[in-house]
Amino acid sequence: MFSEYFKTNYKKTLTESNDVEIYRALLRFTKKQLNEKRHIDGKKKLYYISAEFLIGKLLANNLINLGLYDEIDRELKDAGTSLAAIEAIEPEPSLGNGGLGRLAACFLDSIATLGLNGDGVGLNYHFGLFRQSFSENLQQELPNPWIEKESWLEKTDVSFSVPFKDFTLKSVMYDIDVAGYESGCNRLHLFDAETVDESIVKKGITFDKTNIKKNLTLFLYPDDSDEDGRLLRIYQQYFMVSNAAQLLLKEAEARGSDLHDLADYAVVQINDTHPTLVIPELIYLLGKRGITFNEAARIVSRMCAYTNHTILAEALEKWPLTYLSQVVPHLIPIIKKLDTEVKKQFKDPAVHIIDSQNRVHMAHIDIHCGFSINGVAALHTQILKDSELNHFYRIYPEKFNNKTNGITFRRWLIHTNPELTALIAEKIGTGFFRDEQELTKLLAYREDIGFLNALLEVKQHAKKRLNAHLLEKHGVVLDENAVYDIQIKRLHEYKRQQMNALFIIWQYLQIKQGKLPKRPIVCLFGAKAAPAYTIAKDIIHLILCLQKLIAEDAQVAPHLKVLMVENYNVTEAEFLIPACDISEQISLASKEASGTGNMKFMLNGAVTLGTSDGANVEIADLVGTENIYLFGKKSEEVIHLYETQDYCSKKIYQKSPLVKMLVDFITGPAMLRIGHKENLERIQSELLNKDWFMTLLDLEDYIKTKERIFSDYENRTEWAQKMLVNIAQAGFFSSDRTIAEYNRDIWKL
Ligand SMILES: *Cc1c(COP(=O)(O)O)cnc(C)c1O
Repeated sequence: MFSEYFKTNYKKTLTESNDVEIYRALLRFTKKQLNEKRHIDGKKKLYYISAEFLIGKLLANNLINLGLYDEIDRELKDAGTSLAAIEAIEPEPSLGNGGLGRLAACFLDSIATLGLNGDGVGLNYHFGLFRQSFSENLQQELPNPWIEKESWLEKTDVSFSVPFKDFTLKSVMYDIDVAGYESGCNRLHLFDAETVDESIVKKGITFDKTNIKKNLTLFLYPDDSDEDGRLLRIYQQYFMVSNAAQLLLKEAEARGSDLHDLADYAVVQINDTHPTLVIPELIYLLGKRGITFNEAARIVSRMCAYTNHTILAEALEKWPLTYLSQVVPHLIPIIKKLDTEVKKQFKDPAVHIIDSQNRVHMAHIDIHCGFSINGVAALHTQILKDSELNHFYRIYPEKFNNKTNGITFRRWLIHTNPELTALIAEKIGTGFFRDEQELTKLLAYREDIGFLNALLEVKQHAKKRLNAHLLEKHGVVLDENAVYDIQIKRLHEYKRQQMNALFIIWQYLQIKQGKLPKRPIVCLFGAKAAPAYTIAKDIIHLILCLQKLIAEDAQVAPHLKVLMVENYNVTEAEFLIPACDISEQISLASKEASGTGNMKFMLNGAVTLGTSDGANVEIADLVGTENIYLFGKKSEEVIHLYETQDYCSKKIYQKSPLVKMLVDFITGPAMLRIGHKENLERIQSELLNKDWFMTLLDLEDYIKTKERIFSDYENRTEWAQKMLVNIAQAGFFSSDRTIAEYNRDIWKL
């Protein structure tokens, strides 16, 4: 069908065309198909507002959800190319940062798949998150211009005026169609400002942060290490939510709402605190339409639900009232009034909206003024109730609920791992495409040697595909017979990439002493560090130096390889995850709210090496202790250590010769020959004098557990059984399940 479309519109055959021409035509063709799909509708509508939507490339995913993938792949193969080759041409939209943004993308897929009436709302960042490159073993940041002349974005004629203190900006709304699997379409609305000017970006990602009219939607998470950067973030946040609120009101009125009944027409999911200003904004807009403050606050409190994604204190936004006055003075009376109401009712300063230093706690607005607060994994929600948000839990126990995160299997299995998908379908049929719980039918094949061997072959195939990609794109060669150990996620001290680096030092020294691993080990990393996060960038430096040290050591290189993949993003993840044997999920217990990378790996037959943190706990419950490698201190012990301030990394260093040897190595002569003294000394000193995320606490247990996992890997049949159980039990982590729960308990669409 596509070949006919192509011939009619381009007056030549696919065979006569190159891949770029085919990509452009296929983009148009697919958009046309999306356009002809039914738009999901209904009286009540969800607005999922998020600063990030890490959607990844869309071509293959759209074709899968439209049911066209196989047919078009066949047509392209007949023409001497393939969908994989065409996909390689598509730029990856750069609208997200990490797990939170990827979750929003998986949710849009599931909302449409379940036929629920719900759109995403965000910003159209021209340069997105930065593009990462490495030079001199350091991270470099570059703009990531992902928007081409023709793209998935469709300009609409929807436009709103957004009033700031000193000027008003006109918005432009762009839409991306979101097709559900064998279902209708919803949309992702991305707002932009007409006046934005890409040419103001100077060296790297630097630009005039005060020129709001020109810079507003250039970058996601502009550097907020100075006041101008922080103000810019507030400008962005208000621009996003004012547009969202105006769109919501316009659409609700068009569907028949008289505004007094608005909560029957719309529900807003506030993804982390970034969209919090939607609450005072809705009250403000309802006020302008003649509704009293009290009624407006009541309406809005029945409409807004908040998802908490982290217990890291530094990530819970607190904006000085003076900043907000500089950007959105018209919201200040509303915020103050909400705070006054709270202070009348509750004496406890821990729950006030405006604190004694005149800072506005955004999460507190969400909790007081919304009807639902959810955590993103069972352990995380429990910690919110017991400690982080305990003051609020005691006031509003009925508002708290858990929604364990999930991932869309359309992208993270069917698309990324067609061989595994086919193998599973051969055994249990394709029912799991719609009902992921059917994967448990695989448990019946635990003793089926033929099936276990086929699983191992699929893994081998994925390694070959990854290796071909890494060779082509990054010029590196990996040994396909090695065990692949992978840690890919944002770089943050709490995720403890530094602990993995210390393991690599240990493994290196073992080999130097002649103690060789049973088979080569490949340690893969992918991670971007926030541009102003010094220690995170030092950790990247440490890993890149180890990579070089090991690659250049002829005695070690055949047995150990370290590779940090440049510019980690969804596309890289799609190559890496199917090839993984060992999934590194080693955050300090209590700090990773959920994780979704852990779920993607499990679904693709990797075995988790992790702490009892986030959704790892639920993975362990599902697969049983024989099929996961848990280590390290539990969350209660960690929380206790923080409370008593009893943790001292230096003591561990002084007591353990092993720990001392590994930490000392960071600034030893071998490393100083390759790396920068300043960076290496700083990361070492951080480990010795602070180690806020307790790397040294779990280090020895981590090394021991890792030795055990490498040894167990050699029993290939038992390992394949572990793979099987992980795949079979992954159904719970489908985002279709998560979204069904959101709808049942919160949205009620
Ligand atoms: C899934 C995903 C993440 C989240 O990974 P975690 O391990 O859960 O932190 C981040 N980035 C990308 C590109 C992803 O696909």
